[in-house]
Amino acid sequence: MKDLAGIGMTSQRTRDRLIVQLKKLGIKDERVLDVMRKVPRHLFMADALSSRAYENTALPIGHGQTISQPYIVARMTELLIEDGLPENVLEVGTGSGYQSAVLASLIPRVFSVERIRPLQEQAKVVLTNVGYKNINFKHSDGGWGWKACGPYQGILAAAAPKEIPVKLLEQLSIGAKLVIPIGEDGRQVLQRVTRTESAYEVETIEPVSFVPFLNGLA
Ligand code: SAH
Repeated sequence: MKDLAGIGMTSQRTRDRLIVQLKKLGIKDERVLDVMRKVPRHLFMADALSSRAYENTALPIGHGQTISQPYIVARMTELLIEDGLPENVLEVGTGSGYQSAVLASLIPRVFSVERIRPLQEQAKVVLTNVGYKNINFKHSDGGWGWKACGPYQGILAAAAPKEIPVKLLEQLSIGAKLVIPIGEDGRQVLQRVTRTESAYEVETIEPVSFVPFLNGLA
């Protein structure tokens, strides 16, 4: 098992510097900042990259995918929990498992789907070693959602489709929020959808850059 306490470049001081940056970039939610300070991001990437784990940047995790930038993980989490902590959340795109760890530190039950099996297997090992017991995994296309475990009080997607998948909207409970990047490479925006009794209210948050949301399994 990898070193959980962290030494050298992964020291608490290095991590605290990231928190200072996140605050400068506008992250305000203390619950989120507190979790970002604690989650050992260096464990979710190859050892060769771990000296860069607390830089505010996306890094490669293999299979053409990346571990999300800390700022965007913090921002999406903040948007998801702004009006209260959901009881359960569906995450689309487990990837390295880093965002799953942030969510599972705040939310009682996390359901995470990923289309690339080896990535999800690896994430499962790391998250189990770190001690998370409240994350359920499924090797699946997030475009289908995960109906059996829904509806969800929150849904968060880490890959950008061209349009919001209808199944994700259907699996939101009333009052729930979906935080998702939308659009083609190079001109994506982060959106937050809130399901009300009679409609879906869409807010456009800011420009972002995510890997594409792909169909089918790999
Ligand atoms: N939050 C993750 C982000 C990983 S990148 C992290 O910090 O590591 C986005 C992930 O979404 C990739 O692993 C990619 O394989 C996955 N993905 C893309 N389209 C998907 C889909 N339709 N269903 C499930 N996962 C998908």
